[in-house]
Amino acid sequence: MSIQQNIQHIKSQLPEHVTLVAVSKTKPVSDLMEAYNAGQRSFGENKIQEMVEKHEVMPKDIEWHMIGHVQRNKVKYMASFVNLIHGVDNIKLLKEIDKQAKKHDRIIDCLLQIKIASEDSKFGMSSSDALEIIQSNSLSELKNIKVTGVMGMATFTNNKSQIEREFQFLKSTFDDLKATQSKNCTLEIISMGMSSDYLLAIEFGSNMVRVGSSIFGSRNYN
Ligand SMILES: *Cc1c(COP(=O)(O)O)cnc(C)c1O
Repeated sequence: MSIQQNIQHIKSQLPEHVTLVAVSKTKPVSDLMEAYNAGQRSFGENKIQEMVEKHEVMPKDIEWHMIGHVQRNKVKYMASFVNLIHGVDNIKLLKEIDKQAKKHDRIIDCLLQIKIASEDSKFGMSSSDALEIIQSNSLSELKNIKVTGVMGMATFTNNKSQIEREFQFLKSTFDDLKATQSKNCTLEIISMGMSSDYLLAIEFGSNMVRVGSSIFGSRNYN
């Protein structure tokens, strides 16, 4: 199936309140343009340099999502245009995003990445760390960021009940955070679910799915 058909198929499965982020990492601009021409406007990249290059040549009504691990010294390259940073996992990074956003007179939306997988390789903070950040005074001083939700990546496994447990955990973390949120937070987004598990994630409360290979085909990392 073509990229356009893949997008139409996935969209037909998504409830109205769920946002589809097309994960275009490693894919050429021509593929992204095919998605764009099919009406797709939210794209997710996991490398800042690659996202910057694509942003420069693509239409300006695209929303760019940074879904990968973010190094503090690279925030400046995307601060002028990024729409949502999914992978925020510490307060120092939030402070840097705030600082760079201020230079562009913007407010950058951020998600707190929660570690829900059992694998050590996955980034993210514990739910208690996230709670601490949400309640901290330093967060309320950061005027140029807004924490709008949480993000998580389930373990890479075929064990469905394990994935369900991990999604359930992210949802309940979100609920706990929402119950205690303060200034600079408007917790609305639960970013969870990828090509293999986005429908399951939606059952467990996801309202933003990050789908790559089911749209663009498998990736070649060479
Ligand atoms: C690559 C990636 C995805 C998309 O993965 P697919 O399995 O290709 O849909 C989603 N989220 C993150 C954080 C990723 O790095």
